[in-house]
Amino acid sequence: MLKGFMLFLFVVLVFPATGKAQTMIAGVPVNCVDAYGVPVMTIPAPQLGDVGMARIEPNGVRVIYLNPIILNVLPRPIQLFWYAHECAHHHLGHTYGFQQLSREKDADCWAIRIGREQGWITPKVIDVMAHYFRGNPGSPWGHLPGPQRLQNFVNCYNL
Ligand SMILES: [Zn+2]
Repeated sequence: MLKGFMLFLFVVLVFPATGKAQTMIAGVPVNCVDAYGVPVMTIPAPQLGDVGMARIEPNGVRVIYLNPIILNVLPRPIQLFWYAHECAHHHLGHTYGFQQLSREKDADCWAIRIGREQGWITPKVIDVMAHYFRGNPGSPWGHLPGPQRLQNFVNCYNL
């Protein structure tokens, strides 16, 4: 009985009211599980200096943080792409430290392929993405510069 109560308290404490396993992105119900099938929470993070971030919190909760200020003004498929990209970091085990070198490229690829399978990434959407990513300089921690990133999108779409 006590054990059950403790577990209940634990669940209440580690799952903040704003985070839940299923969430809505651009009006679409979405879900994410990590490399071991553990559900990933999504938490809005308007203070985040980027569109999104994937991490395992010290208490073990798997989280996708998304900045609604940046995300909500983007076209619907690009919003879904960012969610899928952050989910990929959990799903491909990057949050456990797997595949450090190519993780950004691999997360993009996984997101593009999931989007193609689910029908929200089409060649037309990739053209729209070209507009958004064209001037992107990339980052020292693995984001490809815009033109290379787009080529990776196209290659992954055609895999
Ligand atoms: Zn990433």
